[in-house]
Amino acid sequence: MHQKIAKALENTNRGFLSDVDAMFSRAAELVPMQEGLAEKIRICNETYVTRFGVRLRGRMYTFEGWRSVHTNHPSPAKGGIRYAPNVDQHEVEALAALMTYKCALMDLPFAGSKGALKINVSDWTEAELERITRRFTQELVRQNFLSPALNVPAPDVGTSEQTMVWIGNEYQRMNPHDINAAGCVTGKPIAAGGIEGRVEATGRGVQYAVRVFFQTERDRRKARVPSTLDQCRVVVQGFGNVGYHAAKFLAEDGCRITTIIERDGAITNADGLDIEALKEHVRIHGGVAGFEGGTFGNDGEAALEKECEILIPAALESVINEDNARRIKAAVIAEAANGPVTYEANEILRERGVVIIPDLFANAGGVTVSYFEWVKNLTHMPFGLMERRQREHEHLELVTALEGALGVKLAQGNFGRLQLGASEIDLVRSGLEEKMHSTYRRMSDLWNSDSKISDLRTAAYVIAINRLKAIYQAIGI
Ligand code: NAD
Repeated sequence: MHQKIAKALENTNRGFLSDVDAMFSRAAELVPMQEGLAEKIRICNETYVTRFGVRLRGRMYTFEGWRSVHTNHPSPAKGGIRYAPNVDQHEVEALAALMTYKCALMDLPFAGSKGALKINVSDWTEAELERITRRFTQELVRQNFLSPALNVPAPDVGTSEQTMVWIGNEYQRMNPHDINAAGCVTGKPIAAGGIEGRVEATGRGVQYAVRVFFQTERDRRKARVPSTLDQCRVVVQGFGNVGYHAAKFLAEDGCRITTIIERDGAITNADGLDIEALKEHVRIHGGVAGFEGGTFGNDGEAALEKECEILIPAALESVINEDNARRIKAAVIAEAANGPVTYEANEILRERGVVIIPDLFANAGGVTVSYFEWVKNLTHMPFGLMERRQREHEHLELVTALEGALGVKLAQGNFGRLQLGASEIDLVRSGLEEKMHSTYRRMSDLWNSDSKISDLRTAAYVIAINRLKAIYQAIGI
């Protein structure tokens, strides 16, 4: 490992955050910059820590929460809010940094932020979670860590559409004159100002990321994987929002999802698991154990090492580390989770020829569709409203002219499909696919054209750093 990075790791010993810093620093050395700028980009601007009380069950409970703003350029800062029992400030700062680099890589007009509340959601009822969330929101609003112009959260581990509605509604109550209030949070249900396709957006993005990788022959060859997805076995860790949707969409593309790993263990079926049936089982039983469509094993960690072409960690950070990296058998790892591979494991896997589709890119579908939702909230108009009928009239005229010129009548089904204008979900998918494809093209071109760029992750960081450097230069800092 590079000496400077090793020293930084030694000094800090902060696990996840050190890994993100080390990955950044390695790439930053490849980008010529004025002295001190790399350090300015790397460090977290500010972290607000709040400890607030909520009266519940006849007594007072104190909760601890964080909101980090990694950088303020461009504004607003964007990033999820996580509810988990073992979060800390370093984890939140690492996740906020990843958001800065992810938004820069994807060319989205956001800086990076992240928030967390130290809580075990299963300890509380829905009504209690609502009260706790509303109190947390009041703290964030009071300190200017929540607003459509400054800081816009979204769901992450342990939070959902429902959490976003509570946050958005509390902000609205405190800011009744803010006409853009709906844009203070993304990942909302449609009825509360959300956008079609946001719930599944991160999983959909993982699907597009894997697809474009497989469509890029020079990269696919490096991983020595079959040419089509229907020849691939997939192992997924985490069957929550991201893992479930990634598994569902990749199964639709023909992949065999052979293993799903959850908290209680792993379920395996060499012929491919029935994803919808497993989801229903998990909904009822709270885990994968007992599912009749596969064989259960209680060692989830060991299941990461199963034979497969594609491994999708979609749960937690640092699950692939120095201890197990040499035993991973997947040819490709698509990082649906944030930071699932440590710096050391990344080095080991690269030397072994395993290709990693990095988190900055692989899970960027969520923030990309959040961007569409935020724009929709600011314009106060659904996508496609003004154009849809106009497109349909144009298509009808075109189809009628074609029928006249060719002297044939098109079948009703074909005619109907040709005539339709794009709906909001069509536009969201089209926008997301475009972002994923164009960004992958830039990463792949860099990886293949510059011998100093040793993997897709370094390519992703270099693109992100160049954009951040340009932002700082443009504003004269
Ligand atoms: P989630 O809470 O919906 O799902 C996480 C799942 O992982 C849960 O089902 C949980 O039971 C499972 N899990 C927890 N510990 C596990 C373990 N040790 N082994 C196996 N499974 C375990 O969260 P999510 O929104 O799906 O997020 C998952 C990851 O994706 C996180 O790293 C998150 O930061 C990242 N991510 C999420 C989004 C989003 O839009 N939700 C966007 C980008 C990145």
